[in-house]
Amino acid sequence: MILGCHVKMTSPLFVEGSVREALSYGANALMLYTGAPQNTKRRPVSEMHIPEAKALMAENGIPMEHMIIHAPYLINPANSVRPEVMELAKEFLASELQRTAEIGAVNLVLHPGSYTVTDPETGIRACIETLNGLHEIPENTVICLETMAGKGSEIGRTFEELAEILEHLDQKEKYGVCLDTCHINDAGYDVSDFDGVLDEFDRIIGLKLLRVIHLNDSKNIRGARKDRHANLGCGTIGFENLLKAAQNPRVQHIAKILETPYVGDNPPYAKEIAMLRSGIYEEGWEEHLK
Ligand code: FE
Ligand code: FE
Ligand code: ZN
Repeated sequence: MILGCHVKMTSPLFVEGSVREALSYGANALMLYTGAPQNTKRRPVSEMHIPEAKALMAENGIPMEHMIIHAPYLINPANSVRPEVMELAKEFLASELQRTAEIGAVNLVLHPGSYTVTDPETGIRACIETLNGLHEIPENTVICLETMAGKGSEIGRTFEELAEILEHLDQKEKYGVCLDTCHINDAGYDVSDFDGVLDEFDRIIGLKLLRVIHLNDSKNIRGARKDRHANLGCGTIGFENLLKAAQNPRVQHIAKILETPYVGDNPPYAKEIAMLRSGIYEEGWEEHLK
């Protein structure tokens, strides 16, 4: 099973530290932001200990495809209201793609954005315009649009909305999708019937475009349109359903990334990954971690 989690990317070891953190959890995949997710301040990639990070990945037999980069959530490609925001989104996204390529990663996960005060159709058109405004997408990088919960004015809540965006992109071969189990639950999909979800995904988007899975439980009921991640087995989806999704042979080759919350001050990932690998859930595990 290809399992990873969201890890830090901070001084002094930067990306090398990210890989070390992931390995300490028993992960064979990871996801990181290239800087603080809420701002655009970024350090040059040359200072991020990339050769050391790559050597560690190679030593542990982890391909660079399983190092996922997440774009900061301040980028709103669907904002058509303020042209300067759209311009910033375009510029920053272009530089983020460049960084992803310099790091040697492949998949850059991006939220399609929020339409703010307009309407979903206007937001979808703005998102298409922003993405088609990216002139050069580096050769090996792929932008993975994430399935969203539909909180507030988020677009990308349904597979149909993502399909509509994908259909209108100029460089279709440069795009893929990241499926987030918490988000699709909150959007109304039934994660307990993961094969059914994959069938629908395949019919509307095409399963070959699925490149990353975010494996999270949800604090809210199906269809709540909330987006609050829960630890595995501590939410409304439940451990067994998430385990079945992670074990599904149709997505065997795809990295599953945990974005579950810390328990008190402690990262839950070593425990969650171990439970997924063994297939055995330990009732009350999160209480012991506190
Ligand atoms: Fe995300
Ligand atoms: Fe996610
Ligand atoms: Zn989320």
